[in-house]
Amino acid sequence: MNKNVSTFMGCDSEYGEARIVLFGAPFDSTSSYRAGSRFASAAMRGESYALEDYSPYQDRDLSDIMVFDGGELELPPGSAQMALEAIERFAGKVLDDKKVPCMIGGEHLVTLGAVRAAAQRFRDLAVLAFDAHADLRGDYLGETLSHATVMRRVWELVGDGRIHQFGVRSGCREEFTWGKGRVETHMYGFSGLQETAERLRGVPVYLTVDLDVLDPGIFPGTGTPEAGGVSFTELLNAMLVTAGLNIVGFDLNELSPACDPSGNSTLTACKVLRELLLLHG
Ligand code: MN
Ligand code: MN
Repeated sequence: MNKNVSTFMGCDSEYGEARIVLFGAPFDSTSSYRAGSRFASAAMRGESYALEDYSPYQDRDLSDIMVFDGGELELPPGSAQMALEAIERFAGKVLDDKKVPCMIGGEHLVTLGAVRAAAQRFRDLAVLAFDAHADLRGDYLGETLSHATVMRRVWELVGDGRIHQFGVRSGCREEFTWGKGRVETHMYGFSGLQETAERLRGVPVYLTVDLDVLDPGIFPGTGTPEAGGVSFTELLNAMLVTAGLNIVGFDLNELSPACDPSGNSTLTACKVLRELLLLHG
């Protein structure tokens, strides 16, 4: 008999031996449109078993790498500040133990907690973001902690020229104007990613994948879908470009399972996560 332990598929290493520590950050209180991303990590664990552990793209198997699944953080709904503190504490402990935190959101704001932990420990941290949205607002309806402001808050930590965004196709005029010279924003897709990756060789990089970078035609399970997105293959190829980078932490976020009753978006998110784990594990 075995105890019922539900991890993401193939992620059954012990903490001490693991290189990657997977955890869920189920928080969606600042979602500006459809909430529900706090159910993403639990949904992904259940659905993940529909996929193979093996990636033909990388000729690697999850059984080849050491991943500890730490389950879900307990985050207080409605308090972005307390949720971010809890995420920062957890990610900080993982980093102090010389492991790589891999966080499943939640909405995109959760990234700020993990980046706070990484920025304290790695000078010259760069942030690579795949997202349909610029997320560079100073505030959203007066609220400074929001998934619509997360990259602006990250900029306050890492400074000019340290944020590299790809796939962006939505934002207000002020975000793009403000971002000029401060944030490297690549519109619509991944052109320029190879060059950016070459410049980031050896630099500590935090990678954040807001899954709404995918086209809502293939990924409707997200709170603020934005037409004109990339295909799964384009995202996969972009992730493969990050191989060899010094990724010190990464996350994927903004899957909102109930927005896609077919379940396909959840499975797509699982596949994205499998590839990320195999790349950086
Ligand atoms: Mn975002
Ligand atoms: Mn987004």
